[in-house]
Amino acid sequence: MNVYYEQDADLKYLQEKNIAVLGYGSQGHAHALNLKESGLNVCVGLRPDSSSCAKAREAGLEVNPIANAVKWADIIMILLPDQYQKSIYETEIAPNLEAGNTLAFAHGFNIHYNQIVPSETVNVMMIAPKSPGHLVRRTFTQGNGVPCLIAVYQDYTGDTKQQALAWAKGLGGTKAGVIETTFKDETETDLFGEQAVLCGGSAELIKAGFETLVEGGYPAELAYFECMHELKLIVDLYYEGGLSRMNYSVSDTAEYGGMTRGPRVITSAVKAEMKKILEEVQDGRFAKEFIDECNSGYPNLKKLRASNTDHPIEKVGSKLREMMSWLLKK
Ligand code: NDP
Ligand code: MG
Ligand code: MG
Repeated sequence: MNVYYEQDADLKYLQEKNIAVLGYGSQGHAHALNLKESGLNVCVGLRPDSSSCAKAREAGLEVNPIANAVKWADIIMILLPDQYQKSIYETEIAPNLEAGNTLAFAHGFNIHYNQIVPSETVNVMMIAPKSPGHLVRRTFTQGNGVPCLIAVYQDYTGDTKQQALAWAKGLGGTKAGVIETTFKDETETDLFGEQAVLCGGSAELIKAGFETLVEGGYPAELAYFECMHELKLIVDLYYEGGLSRMNYSVSDTAEYGGMTRGPRVITSAVKAEMKKILEEVQDGRFAKEFIDECNSGYPNLKKLRASNTDHPIEKVGSKLREMMSWLLKK
């Protein structure tokens, strides 16, 4: 596994170039501002009626309609929601690309699943910060960076990897470390991780624990603290020092009880199901299902969102969080 740092990347590969960042959301604002403050020539591309226009202009960035930004740019980073990238690519981006331009992504979904099929005469690269955009921005303003993945899918001009490294450096990423990967590996591990562990797995684990306590006759408030609130404290320990730090920090009672009972919750049946989920990611079944869902106006997603909102843990949670003065009201 190749890991790159400051001395491995040279901003000169981007310095003579015009750079368009399409989108000014979580990732977009961080890429546009960090690269601009790294001395690069950046403009933001947005739809004309975009609610993000004013924010980008207030931050001192030049904003143009997407088609114009692409026409002007040599390097185009697409930081729009994944499900809209294909249609925006076909209508606003592709007609304005020139041979030798570089298309950049922060996630491989659209390239890996052939939603976007760029001409052979453009470079295609990825710079994927392993963090939410707001942390990409905050660490940069503090003089640091977050780890990033880079990948090259098409190398027409012969220097695409240097451009990707330069982008990662402009973001602050080479201060932390940049790992080289492929569009395939980034896309498949990202989707599997969010489905099985980070978003899907953790949410179902929390709900199952909460429901078990409430059905056992315990107050919902206590169940909330045990099964949702305290999870953050545990995850912080994993984040700082892995499984051993967590086990070191909790009581011996918790350590013994956890190690003997945990495998009864996450059984071999759970892992067998994870393997099926991974296969659906690998053979494109998940991607097709999600694209169909988007194209039909999110009928399932709307239902599932509503059932989550109605879950008792959400009701008790919103009351309890009002007691926590340090939480930002969102
Ligand atoms: P956001 O949802 O935060 O970005 C929204 C931006 O796209 C806004 O500027 C919005 O402007 C614009 N936009 C939304 N819909 C449209 C549309 N139909 N036409 C034109 N512009 C539109 O996206 P993220 O930053 O979360 O994701 C961007 C990319 O980064 C994705 O590929 C994602 O997978 C990847 N990524 C995201 C991470 C994250 O932290 N969120 C982490 C790593 C990778 P408007 O005001 O016009 O709606
Ligand atoms: Mg993801
Ligand atoms: Mg306890």
